[in-house]
Amino acid sequence: MSTHREEKLLVDIDEFENKEFLDKIKEFSENEVAKIAKKLDLTDEFPVETCEKMHDLKLFSLLIPREYGGEGLSLLHFSQALYTISKYSASIGLLIICHTVGLLPVIFYGSEEQKNKYFKEVIDNRKLFAFSITEPKAGSDAASIEATALKDGKDYILNGIKSFITNVGKSDYYTMFFKTEPEKGSRGMSCFIVDKNLDGFKIISTYEKIGMRGIPCGNVKLDNVRISKSELIGEEGIGFKIAMDTLNTSRPFIGAQAIGIAEYAFEKALRFASRRRQFGKPIAKHQAVMFKLAKMATKVEAAKSIVRKACYLLDNDDHEKTKFSAMCKAFATDVAMENSIDAMQIYGGYSTYRDGDIERLMRDAKITQIFEGSNEIQNMIIGNQLYKEAGIKFDADEDILPDELMKYAYGEDYVSSKKSWKFSRRVF
Ligand SMILES: Cc1cc2nc3c(=O)[nH]c(=O)nc-3n(C[C@H](O)[C@H](O)[C@H](O)COP(=O)(O)OP(=O)(O)OC[C@H]3O[C@@H](n4cnc5c(N)ncnc54)[C@H](O)[C@@H]3O)c2cc1C
Repeated sequence: MSTHREEKLLVDIDEFENKEFLDKIKEFSENEVAKIAKKLDLTDEFPVETCEKMHDLKLFSLLIPREYGGEGLSLLHFSQALYTISKYSASIGLLIICHTVGLLPVIFYGSEEQKNKYFKEVIDNRKLFAFSITEPKAGSDAASIEATALKDGKDYILNGIKSFITNVGKSDYYTMFFKTEPEKGSRGMSCFIVDKNLDGFKIISTYEKIGMRGIPCGNVKLDNVRISKSELIGEEGIGFKIAMDTLNTSRPFIGAQAIGIAEYAFEKALRFASRRRQFGKPIAKHQAVMFKLAKMATKVEAAKSIVRKACYLLDNDDHEKTKFSAMCKAFATDVAMENSIDAMQIYGGYSTYRDGDIERLMRDAKITQIFEGSNEIQNMIIGNQLYKEAGIKFDADEDILPDELMKYAYGEDYVSSKKSWKFSRRVF
């Protein structure tokens, strides 16, 4: 059984110049990605052959500008591609996302020399990138990283431990963040392109994840790694800005990935509910199940709208881009989590079979709420942006006086209308 929704994508691509290309991605997702999704989850083995096919399809150069031989997609079209692929396997989506996030600092801040060298490495030599800021003691608080890059003549010497690096061991280049002037805090942070073959670069561990399996994640130790100044991205001291610009841009990628999970969960649940019969009729005809399906579909549409808006604002460098980027990541990933849990409920006992793919969606969805900045951190970003937009400052030392508070609540003329206040006190 098919549903009409299967043909619907994040955006109506007919109107876009990249339609043919995006159609190819859809075909690849339905024919290749769908087939390996379960195997990836069960074996946790890296999809070597699929990765080669992804290179053939140019899936690792989607955001590299056209003048350097890349596909030069807009963020909207890139997110479209991620959503399409992640619907069948969030792991394959993750592989593209983390490579592309590693490339973003070079795209945004790289020198001409770096762009020419590294984009060629990706396009012609099939090399992969990874993004690495997290450390054992610095997760949400990225500014507190301790790894250092200290100057030594024309070079820098890298030391420290980097953790949770996706694509670890499969990537050739790691966009990594270090303190070049530790005493300056976030202003003393810099970003480097680190080649995995440099002496002193060592993968010290990988770990088995609950979801998005098959794509490695692990820790790297840098032990007196000597790196040339030519690998510094931008200039010294702007590393934190590079990291924030990168993450602001990449959050809709996770949103798009999450929509893929959420929509697949809905479609699977819809199909199951229309076939499974209890109390003499398909469970889809029991109103409690119908309402669940209605809410799942509505949330998917709402998530698509906000991810699409965030991409549009980022593509157009709009002043609200940071807020929407965080909103879409938090919202879409919560929807993925909720829909995958609701799909399990609709599947009942059959959802608990380990090799069925419904519970995989829940495990994949959980990760989307945590990485690329947890949803609590997204809400902090949203809140800060809201206060900034409203011009609210929190620098007053004293509590506001009751009279003033009433002015805020009921308007400037409150003090002169104490009569109505007394009246309302008498009544209630
Ligand atoms: C599968 C996976 C892949 C990853 N891939 C990469 C990668 O490729 N590169 C990379 O650099 N990193 C990567 N990460 C790291 C990821 O970005 C961090 O896990 C994430 O930022 C959260 O950091 P943490 O795990 O240290 O949690 P913590 O920062 O310790 O947070 C723990 C909890 O406390 C909450 N919390 C923390 N501070 C606050 C606050 N101020 N207010 C309210 N709540 C707060 C958090 O929301 C969270 O719920 C990956 C993580 C995972 C799980």
